[in-house]
Amino acid sequence: MSVTKYAAEEPPETGQELAEPPSLSTPHAFQGQELAFWARHRNFLATHFPGATQKDWDSWRWQLKNRITSPQRMAAILGVPAPLGFDRAGAFPAAVTPYYLLTASQSPAVTRCILPDVREKDIRPFEMPDPLGEDGHSPVPGIVHRYPDRVLFLVTEFCSTYCRYCTRSRLVGKSGHRSDMSSWQRALDYIRAHPEVRDVLLSGGDPLTLPDMKIEWLLSQLRRIPHVEIVRIGTKVPAVLPQRITPALVRMLRRYHPLLMSLHFAHPDEITPETAAACNRLADGGIPLGSQTVLLAGVNDDVETMKRLMHGLIRNRVRPYYLYQCDPIPGSTHFRTPVEKGLSIIQGLRGHTSGYCIPTYVIDAPGGGGKVPLQPQYAFDREGRDVMLRNYEGRVFRYPDTAGREG
Ligand SMILES: *Cc1c(COP(=O)(O)O)cnc(C)c1O
Repeated sequence: MSVTKYAAEEPPETGQELAEPPSLSTPHAFQGQELAFWARHRNFLATHFPGATQKDWDSWRWQLKNRITSPQRMAAILGVPAPLGFDRAGAFPAAVTPYYLLTASQSPAVTRCILPDVREKDIRPFEMPDPLGEDGHSPVPGIVHRYPDRVLFLVTEFCSTYCRYCTRSRLVGKSGHRSDMSSWQRALDYIRAHPEVRDVLLSGGDPLTLPDMKIEWLLSQLRRIPHVEIVRIGTKVPAVLPQRITPALVRMLRRYHPLLMSLHFAHPDEITPETAAACNRLADGGIPLGSQTVLLAGVNDDVETMKRLMHGLIRNRVRPYYLYQCDPIPGSTHFRTPVEKGLSIIQGLRGHTSGYCIPTYVIDAPGGGGKVPLQPQYAFDREGRDVMLRNYEGRVFRYPDTAGREG
């Protein structure tokens, strides 16, 4: 196996500069809605951020600087009642970019994902701060090594926007030291010392909230490790901060291929013209895009919503990857659905729409068992040599499973 050597100092290959995507910023799906979309934008900006320009809005640093962190102010802008008795001391912090707050202002489902809720104080005995047992699988700070050939590398605790159902609510938004150079060095040393690690998944927090230079430093360090074959980035930035996906970022990222991304999406309302353009810029950079979605009560727990989301993603070249059962983090009961709901959603997709639109439904096993896939029982019985199959319409078929059974 030969691995190309990469170095941060290498100039980009000449003649292959990424051209601006010509018409992708206005995908066909938004025909006729574009003008209304931009009118709402201007109105939102003028009302809630007087003095800010379109240029400010388009700047990811402006978006970060102007994050809304007060639940009361969020509620006021959204025009909904302020969350009752929300105590910020020691609690999971709240934050949202102006961009994503605009999205939420058009969508009760998206609002539910970001606005703190008094029900977060209803903590059940089975809920745990670290439901996936990540801290127990962490050989050095920032690394979770659960599977034989790949590691999770938590490079920052910071996100531009905090989802109320976050599986890492125990650590995000805290002023930890995960993005310190010294803890990055220790994590890289661990990966260098483990030749079985062929896949490194950068997550957090949101790695794409780091400046280009820091991301490039991490990627170039990883690329110098011969046994690291692929690098993945897990991010919600295209949905909550699409301004971050600049042509310069994509030009840098594409020098570190094979690089893949898992994009977090919760609801079809997130797929605005700006988010669609961000996804298409990444896809034009040759980055295979997968999606991760958490199944959430009152947000996306019906077949129609989930299908609209999956269709919106695939139209923008994001291949649905995982649908997660909501992890039992403290105060998440109001988000959780019965497992049957997830199975019936998968059943409502499989066969009814393109196979490319169907994610794998998984439960990340509490205590550190890793992701366990769940499927409706399509092979529901065995009769003698035959496997009994139920298709998407509920019709029953027999498969003669004779191989290895007859002489
Ligand atoms: C999800 C996860 C991975 C990646 O799993 P894939 O199924 O390969 O996408 C790796 N490590 C940890 C700890 C994870 O939680």
